[in-house]
Amino acid sequence: MDASYSNWANSFTFTATIVHRPESLDELCAIVARTPSLHVLGTGHSFNGIADGAELLQLDRMPMTVEIDRDARTVTINPAIPYGVLAVELERAGLAVHNMASLPHITVGGAVATATHGSGMRSGNLATAVAAMELVTAAGDIVQIARGDAGFDGMVVHVGALGVVTRLTLDVEPTYQVCQEVFQDLAWDTLYADFDGVMGSAQSVSLFTDYGDTIGELWCKMRVRADHPWERRTEHFGARAATAPLHPVLALSADSCTEQLGVPGPWHERMPHFRMDAIPSAGHELQTEYMLARRHAVPAIQAIRALAPVIQPVLLISEIRTVASDQLWLSSAYGTDTVCLHFTWQFEPEKVVEMLPAIEAALAPFDPRPHWGKLFLATADELTPRYPKMDDFRALANRLDPKGKFRNAFLERHVFGE
Ligand SMILES: Cc1cc2nc3c(=O)[nH]c(=O)nc-3n(C[C@H](O)[C@H](O)[C@H](O)COP(=O)(O)OP(=O)(O)OC[C@H]3O[C@@H](n4cnc5c(N)ncnc54)[C@H](O)[C@@H]3O)c2cc1C
Repeated sequence: MDASYSNWANSFTFTATIVHRPESLDELCAIVARTPSLHVLGTGHSFNGIADGAELLQLDRMPMTVEIDRDARTVTINPAIPYGVLAVELERAGLAVHNMASLPHITVGGAVATATHGSGMRSGNLATAVAAMELVTAAGDIVQIARGDAGFDGMVVHVGALGVVTRLTLDVEPTYQVCQEVFQDLAWDTLYADFDGVMGSAQSVSLFTDYGDTIGELWCKMRVRADHPWERRTEHFGARAATAPLHPVLALSADSCTEQLGVPGPWHERMPHFRMDAIPSAGHELQTEYMLARRHAVPAIQAIRALAPVIQPVLLISEIRTVASDQLWLSSAYGTDTVCLHFTWQFEPEKVVEMLPAIEAALAPFDPRPHWGKLFLATADELTPRYPKMDDFRALANRLDPKGKFRNAFLERHVFGE
């Protein structure tokens, strides 16, 4: 492995000099048992050191299992499969998952580990689809666990600290059609007056803004019936319909984006914002995101808007989404319906880090939970009161990994406490 191997953003250089790529479960268990310190790497789309380790392990040479159980309405996979690849297999079988993130390029395993989410007032994050998992623990033992088993809710969003997830079983549902409409220049006062109305006006709603005079883009993804043509609207909550496809960053080409203008199509070609065969987002960027209780959405957004003059020089675009409450211990939506305040930054690592104290201070009254895979400052001590089950998670990790084989500097700083 190249010693300068980096994450997707090229903002973090992994410390590891060895990457293991086993081809079988037996080989993987043997590597885990004999290696004193290691960590699993997905596709490296996280912006921080969450996936770093003294040695790395990837599952991309293991059999790319996709086992569909129609009676149970599940699919069992190798977690190294990217969503975009899984989606094509599911669609071919007439099936779908409930939601997707903005990009389909990430592995299912990496997305689940960090509570990656799309948007939807009634839609849980991607980890909530996990029905069962298989984990290889520090000793090289195989643990099977399913929804309803003791400890399951603690193991799904695991931030890479519990072991190597070798199989994931996800809930699936019949395939569905989606159409996507984008509206421009939503008024802030309209959002403030009816936040839940705007965000609940489609299965998945995203707002894109640079915290200027209006909310530049309002993206709506609607489930539609194939036999019932969608009537395109000219306006929505006073925002005018876009007449051409748009990128979330208005100045960028929409060629990398999924189909818009109300044209119906399969779920996996509309639920992500970005196409599998294109570079997602701006491509050269950093990201930060904070989740907090949806009931605080308006004051939290106002607090960020008050920082506009400070953040705008480094901001490419901000996205506002919602996620439904869940019971997964380290999920950013644990126990509360959530609003997500996301920032896509210019690739200015030092300037971005300078922004974070002001943002975290502005959001502090709302107990924000940072995205585990993006840039943030809050330490384990600060985060513990925001995750009611944090101590239980630490006890679980200490039981499954007593010598800290899967720990890294990120986990020590933000989860376990140095
Ligand atoms: C352009 C872009 C857009 C994004 N959009 C969104 C978005 O819309 N919504 C959102 O919520 N996030 C988003 N993210 C963040 C991204 O979803 C997360 O960082 C996600 O974790 C990346 O998945 P990955 O496969 O790259 O995992 P990695 O970054 O490689 O790893 C993440 C964690 O998962 C662990 N892990 C992975 N596989 C396994 C396994 N098999 N066993 C044990 N541990 C494992 C790793 O050890 C690590 O702790 C975006 C990121 C980028 C770069």
